[in-house]
Amino acid sequence: MLELRPTCEHCNKALPPDSTEARICSYECTFCATCVDEVLGNVCPNCGGGFEPRPVRPARNWKGDNYLGKDPAGVKVRHKPVDPASHAQFVDPIRKIPPHKR
Ligand SMILES: [Zn+2]
Ligand SMILES: [Zn+2]
Repeated sequence: MLELRPTCEHCNKALPPDSTEARICSYECTFCATCVDEVLGNVCPNCGGGFEPRPVRPARNWKGDNYLGKDPAGVKVRHKPVDPASHAQFVDPIRKIPPHKR
């Protein structure tokens, strides 16, 4: 189950569970769409993978208690801003490879 982390790891912007701006990699490293596009170049600084929009967990109990009321969003903030210069070096050999081929 996704943790639904509360903020962008780079800029610490709030990303509530219904945010349409939240992006995650396969390890659930979580960033806002602006940072993914403008700072990260769609390369996760922790694993090198690409990002996808984070699914929104239903707020209502549509079926079987699978909803935010039973499985609330995470509260543990991970704020680890990326150093632009070292990220640029890291990204250089990776960004030309499409995320599904990395
Ligand atoms: Zn951000
Ligand atoms: Zn990652």
